[in-house]
Amino acid sequence: MPANLRVLFLAAEADPLVKVGGLGDVAGSLPAALRTAAPPTADDEIEDGEWSGVDVRLALPFHGAIQRQDFPVRWLGSFQVPHRPEPLPAEAYTLEMEGVPIYLIAGEPIPSEAPVYNPDAAVDGMKFTFFSLAALELARRLGWRPHLVHVNDWHTAPAVYDLFLRREQDRFYHRTATLLGLHNLPYLGAGASTALSEFDLPPATGSALPEWAQHLPLPLGLLTADQIVAVSPNYAREITTPEFGSGLHEFLISRKKAITGILNGIDVQRWDPRTDPALAARYGPGELEQRKINKRQLQEELNLDPDPDIPLLTLITRLDQQKGVDLVPEALGQIARLGWQAVILGTGDPGLEADMRALAASFPDRVRAAIRFDAALSRRLYGGADMLLIPSRYEPCGLSQMIAMRYGCVPVARATGGLQDTITDFSRSADSTGFLFGPPSPAALASALRRALKAYKDADTWRGIQQRGMQRDFSWERSAHQYYQLYQQVIKARKQVSS
Ligand code: ADP
Repeated sequence: MPANLRVLFLAAEADPLVKVGGLGDVAGSLPAALRTAAPPTADDEIEDGEWSGVDVRLALPFHGAIQRQDFPVRWLGSFQVPHRPEPLPAEAYTLEMEGVPIYLIAGEPIPSEAPVYNPDAAVDGMKFTFFSLAALELARRLGWRPHLVHVNDWHTAPAVYDLFLRREQDRFYHRTATLLGLHNLPYLGAGASTALSEFDLPPATGSALPEWAQHLPLPLGLLTADQIVAVSPNYAREITTPEFGSGLHEFLISRKKAITGILNGIDVQRWDPRTDPALAARYGPGELEQRKINKRQLQEELNLDPDPDIPLLTLITRLDQQKGVDLVPEALGQIARLGWQAVILGTGDPGLEADMRALAASFPDRVRAAIRFDAALSRRLYGGADMLLIPSRYEPCGLSQMIAMRYGCVPVARATGGLQDTITDFSRSADSTGFLFGPPSPAALASALRRALKAYKDADTWRGIQQRGMQRDFSWERSAHQYYQLYQQVIKARKQVSS
């Protein structure tokens, strides 16, 4: 009798309940895509090889940012999470979205007034370690035994390590496989060490990890997960190099067999220029003229010269060193003599926020800086601006370039990580979808912008680039299918080890 493959998916954030960055997009889309790709049927016991579907369930911390009035939840129950010197009480709530059961976990370490990510690493260490273990405990309480626990980044890596340490003696989790999704290697979870020891997760002394990493949640997850999945094939390679390996490249080389890369998708329903209610004019690849209406509306809204022919550049990003935002002022300075306008939408590092405000002040007639998180404005920018700048120092996958291409907003990006996997440079013009540059320098960005501005002048060429980007398949379906196959392999391998 075929059985459902049960997957417990843990994440720090998931759109639309709570979203800070790309992880929120992934956790908000992949579970539903998996259920659609392989719909679950009436539940059965584990059978060899024959899976009929994926019963994937998502667990999230009940952050204060999750609006109860928008997302009515049902109380499930309360239970204790093992912790020293005494267990900590947790409460679980549930709701369902797009057919995916979601569990929200509350408790003292997850204060409702705190931001999703706290500047104090120790506070987050406590919050996410508590959450990770509470989620495992909840599944046990529900008697819902996952075949695989899929965690994401350092926040939920403690669940992998906990299973590694205890599953041999644990009848419930005995055969459960683990998969660690790697969205951002440099965030190792510094500050969580005290929390780990309070939750009885000791340092992995004498392990293959370098000593400095033996008490950090992400390295511990990387050490003990059955499978590691980086969010793009290129990033899976890059993390084994000194440049991108965050000091762990040698260790990661030793784990190479367990590492693979699966490109993220985007939710093509939520991101569709033909139906996006945030846009004044909606359009498909054959109706690019319509974008001009959106561009004009943006120019008027932002008090820019409403000239349809001036290329409108945009930057939509967390303002973070990772994103190479600091390259932008100098690069724009280097092409100041060319005609363009620019809109920066971003929030994050206070120094970079100040730099972006200063940039706008130094080009009062053509640069605007919106220093905030504004989902509606981001959609208007994707749907009206001509180019999206993505000068990232590293980019595990990146979603914004895929969203931009889907909206006919041409990416000008660094050739790194997932950007390189998803954007085809203009030099390969037959299938080009954007402009790539190599070194993380203002000069290289300026040079790519010059190439893009030149191509923009030829309307046919530009339309071709836009249309090819819009026609690329960035749906989650393909990625979900790859995950489904990988889950099966990993579960099978774990079963062989544990039986
Ligand atoms: P990361 O996860 O590293 O932040 P991604 O490119 O993977 O980068 O995902 C970023 C997501 O966040 C995209 O959906 C992008 O549109 C959105 N985003 C980033 N900054 C803002 C902002 N200030 N306002 C609205 N959306 C934003």
